[in-house]
Amino acid sequence: MVKALLMTIKRMVGIVLILSISGWINESEPSEKLSESCAAFHQIQMDIRDDVISPDSARAAFRAVMQQLRAEFKRDTCHAIDSAYFVYPVKNYTARESVGGRGKGYRADGFDLFDNNVKGSHPAHDLFIKDKDQDNLDDRTWKPVDVLAFTSGIVLATETGWKFDSEYRGGNWIWIYDPCLDGVFYYAHNNIIEVQPGQWVNAGDKIAEMGRSGYNAYQKRSPTHLHLMFLQLDEYGMPLPVNTYDWMLMATTKGSSPDE
Ligand SMILES: [Zn+2]
Repeated sequence: MVKALLMTIKRMVGIVLILSISGWINESEPSEKLSESCAAFHQIQMDIRDDVISPDSARAAFRAVMQQLRAEFKRDTCHAIDSAYFVYPVKNYTARESVGGRGKGYRADGFDLFDNNVKGSHPAHDLFIKDKDQDNLDDRTWKPVDVLAFTSGIVLATETGWKFDSEYRGGNWIWIYDPCLDGVFYYAHNNIIEVQPGQWVNAGDKIAEMGRSGYNAYQKRSPTHLHLMFLQLDEYGMPLPVNTYDWMLMATTKGSSPDE
């Protein structure tokens, strides 16, 4: 009788222990892991930029972070990839009036995210605004232009400290991982960044204000634009550029009236 009672108590203690461990995992571990992934992702970008990591090491590090993120963000709550999935990332503009060269600006040949010395490709689109005097303000409203999240996802890394005399090309940028598309978006040349690493954003949320940051984007010859790139992950977690022009054309537009 006493033995049986002891067994029951032992079993109950065991159950309570298991419950508290799973509670601990649910509440604190994912966010800690996520901050680690974000920090690792940011470091890889810095190391590539500063030429202090070999392309092979950068590739391996990137792959490890991506596999970590994949494990953390399950894809079972993903919605259909239709026009409601995308919000055109420049508020008050449509793709037809702002995507450079009617979508012909996309050149993926030779692109290597992990090799800073490979130049000439442009696996991205430039999304222009009306800003003749290059003051980062929309000439129609004299207000800053909001950069919106094209799709929902988790902010992986941001750069916020670009200075006008810096030789760095991306300026103030944002990387966002979309677990449903299983790829990363890169938004470059922003003026002000309004999100933090580790933050979840929904499609259409304001993430930045458009700007002219970045070595080339700052030059007078460059009209004010957002540089938007999407890299799809392959089965190993390696990034492959994808042309997002069709997605931009079908995207929902926000604030189509400049007076809004
Ligand atoms: Zn560009």
